[in-house]
Amino acid sequence: MADIIKLLPDHVANQIAAGEVVQRPASVVKELLENAIDAGAASIKLIIKEGGKVLIQVIDDGIGMTPTDARMGFERHATSKIQKAEDLFSLNTKGFRGEALASIAAIAHVELQTRPEQDEMATHLRIEGSEIKFQEVCVAPKGTSMSVKNLFFNIPARRNFLKSNQVELRHITDEFHRVALAHPGIAFNFYNNGSELFNLPKANQRQRIVHIFGSKTNEKLVPVNEETQVVKIAGFIIKPEFAKKSRGEQFFFVNNRFIKSPYLHHAVLAAFEGLIKSDAYPGYFLYLDVDPASIDINIHPTKTEVKFDDEHTLYAILRSTIKHSLGQFNVVPALDFEQDQNLETPYDYKDKNAVQPNVTVDRAFNPFQEVGQKSPAGRSYKKQNTEGWENLYVGLESKVGQNDDFSSVRFESESNTGSFFEGHQEDLESIATTFQLRRKYIVTTIKSGMVVIDQSRAHQRVLYEQFLKNITVNQAISQQLLFPLQLSFSNADIAILKEIKESLTSIGFVFSNIDKEEVRITGVPPLISESEVGMVLDQLISDFQMQITEDSFSQTDVLAKTLAKTLSVKTGEVLNNASQLALVNDLFACKESRWSPFNKPVYVTITESDIDKKFI
Ligand code: ADP
Ligand code: MG
Repeated sequence: MADIIKLLPDHVANQIAAGEVVQRPASVVKELLENAIDAGAASIKLIIKEGGKVLIQVIDDGIGMTPTDARMGFERHATSKIQKAEDLFSLNTKGFRGEALASIAAIAHVELQTRPEQDEMATHLRIEGSEIKFQEVCVAPKGTSMSVKNLFFNIPARRNFLKSNQVELRHITDEFHRVALAHPGIAFNFYNNGSELFNLPKANQRQRIVHIFGSKTNEKLVPVNEETQVVKIAGFIIKPEFAKKSRGEQFFFVNNRFIKSPYLHHAVLAAFEGLIKSDAYPGYFLYLDVDPASIDINIHPTKTEVKFDDEHTLYAILRSTIKHSLGQFNVVPALDFEQDQNLETPYDYKDKNAVQPNVTVDRAFNPFQEVGQKSPAGRSYKKQNTEGWENLYVGLESKVGQNDDFSSVRFESESNTGSFFEGHQEDLESIATTFQLRRKYIVTTIKSGMVVIDQSRAHQRVLYEQFLKNITVNQAISQQLLFPLQLSFSNADIAILKEIKESLTSIGFVFSNIDKEEVRITGVPPLISESEVGMVLDQLISDFQMQITEDSFSQTDVLAKTLAKTLSVKTGEVLNNASQLALVNDLFACKESRWSPFNKPVYVTITESDIDKKFI
């Protein structure tokens, strides 16, 4: 038989390698930024168009390349950074594989202009799909400008796989954050579709963090510093009271390279134990310096994972260092005995005798209480301060028993239930046939037996449908705030808020201003209380960021789901009888009462014969 094994042509091998190195525009951004850093740049510009699908350009003022190096750089395994295997153990550059440029050039149109400082003329080179289209001498400033256009032009499947421009831009921004945080000594500019997203001057670590995440971040940072034989730790943690319910900011850098490490993350969590709620995430920016010989960064092609020689020691040091910082900077709550009481008193009043003010208050007065209405005991599943919530129902027919899906199940007390909002609250309480089981389920009887309802999922479903209706009906009811609510966010978060502003407005948020780092809110949906707004918006921003990994959700759907998840009654909450019954009514008035918005079953029915069988 004839020999059949052949070496792949270079451009095919490069295209295959590109599959690993370049997943999306953000991967190109990372490689180009890192090359600029390795070239010793003092200032780096990143220019993006259409989420990087049309253009990714990085301009640096680093060492540049000679005409020969400019061509050589696009060969596979061509690198100036290591020469022998041992060099891998003393690595102090970002790159070392020599595959990035070869891979990128195989799947895009690349244009390069580069000039070493000592040369008079620069090199201009164009490569498309691994083929050099032209090379000429030109005039250009010192350093390198690399443009990558039409990514995946020759791999339609990959191109189609790319997400929306906004989602790709978010990935790019994440990558930019990581690189910019790791190198505060380098100035960065980031332009997207012609407008400047970031302008970061040369700075120290703290300033860089504040420049990226907003001026309000400064007061949240607690410094961390420790030097041992194994590791030098520097950086900041975010005070426990600012821990976010959602992802938040978590950054580890090892020898100035961003890494992900669930193990080290756990060490930080352990240090924060008892200081933050179990469902909150601590924020941190931690820079570890270790001997390059003690780590192996070679285990993953995109290089965000690192293998440490002595992980256990590192864990212990990290944990105790952070605990120490939390204690040292008085972040752990403590009683403050030393405060001088005199400082609290305005000067004019210091020598006067205090007189007890005489104020009479009608403590029984409740402006919202209707005559004869009893306030129910226990947590109401609807917020107390949400007058106007009933209005959401206006025009939406939602009578119990009219639900097709549930037509076979009829409530025993059906004739009496009606709608919760018609003022029959007292009747309902007296004949209520609901029962709360383990603060988790609501049990109610039906003609054929009984239903066991997951209270949290049921409420999620109810809220989800209400928000969706509100959004689609487009008649937002808004509760005007007496004083505008002023909240601060990072610029990246502001960008997301701007993106979803229209949907938020459609459910009743009124923004008087969304600007640099600041949001002013003058109206909120009646379902959301003022104190919850910050949390709800945080959660929304994080969900929209996470959407990166999920497909095919419309903005309104994500919005309705997030709100439903955030505002719903949770497992463990006690519901009073009226609330239980109202929830049951609302649930079975839903279009789809069987499934939660997250596709989990909401209730199970147990028929009499099911029960009978158990007694045989
Ligand atoms: P690596 O970074 O792993 O060495 P790359 O394919 O990213 O591999 O780059 C190949 C080579 O091209 C680098 O080793 C470097 O010598 C040169 N190079 C790439 N980008 C730049 C730049 N911005 N300035 C100067 N030289 C560069
Ligand atoms: Mg590189």
